[in-house]
Amino acid sequence: GKTILEVRDLRVSFEVYGGEVEAVRGVSFHVCEGEAVAIVGESGSGKSVTAQAIMRLIAMPPGKFKSGSVIFEGRDLLTISEKEMQKVRGNKIGMIFQDPMTSLNPTMTIGMQIMESLIKHQRLRKSAAKARAIELLAMVGIPDPETRMKQYPHQMSGGMRQRVMIAIALACNPALLIADEPTTALDVTIQAQVMQFMKELQQNTNTSIILITHDLGVVVDLCDRVIVMYAGQIVETGTKWEIFKNPQHPYTKGLLKSLPRLDQPKNEPLIPIYGTPPDMIQPPQGCGFCSRCESAMRICERQDPEWTAISETQSVRCWLQSAGEKAAAVVGGKEA
Ligand code: SF4
Ligand code: MG
Repeated sequence: GKTILEVRDLRVSFEVYGGEVEAVRGVSFHVCEGEAVAIVGESGSGKSVTAQAIMRLIAMPPGKFKSGSVIFEGRDLLTISEKEMQKVRGNKIGMIFQDPMTSLNPTMTIGMQIMESLIKHQRLRKSAAKARAIELLAMVGIPDPETRMKQYPHQMSGGMRQRVMIAIALACNPALLIADEPTTALDVTIQAQVMQFMKELQQNTNTSIILITHDLGVVVDLCDRVIVMYAGQIVETGTKWEIFKNPQHPYTKGLLKSLPRLDQPKNEPLIPIYGTPPDMIQPPQGCGFCSRCESAMRICERQDPEWTAISETQSVRCWLQSAGEKAAAVVGGKEA
């Protein structure tokens, strides 16, 4: 499909006492029209910072763009004016956060909050905005939307609030929806409902989605493609099935092993990934996963791994693959 968003060599740092945290270190990826892409990684992997950078929601200082571009509909979002960026945020790219309570206004009814966005960005009249708001609440599966319109956020359950957030994000028919841990604060049943809703949305409206999550399990239903981040870098990317059936990076394998499976034998424990991510004030020279990797070799400490293509759609950044490729080439040469 047509590329709707292209992030190139994004680098974001934060000034802190004693140095600079290199939160995002050269991230490049793209999203196609109608595609759902997951960005998966532990907290501190740089996935949320990447999303906030796309939306230009990073406070500067302490934040700083070191390099990169975010091309959306032919323009670099990192260089347009704040006024233009506001139009993009309201109209073109919607964002859903983990905790709706921090993004909803507690002193305003749900209805007013959705209407406000419609009046401001879509320039609808009040009556049209009201009708559209009711429609949106129904669309995200909120029963009796007319009554809900008059309620305040605290009068709703967490799941309902998250749906309201989605309704607000969808109010302007965004071409791209960025959801940062949209279901983490919700219980399992509601999580499934919200994810199901996002899936229907994607199927029915051709909205592109970036889903940011620490939990590979939640991407199964929704996403087409997976990007795995570790220590501020992308370490592996592939289609969902490539990542699940044929993971190549030791970190991706670790994420999968730490995932509860439906066929999980009751007495077989989940295997956590031991250790902690590296200090991002002084990121390691070589592979960021080195200190936690059971397969680490000497080269891993010294040199950043190169990208290796596993297929047309899957690539990995790990010396195991590039070293293996080189060895195979030598063997092949002898045989020839
Ligand atoms: Fe492990 Fe080396 Fe691969 Fe890094 S590059 S994940 S340390 S084998
Ligand atoms: Mg986060």
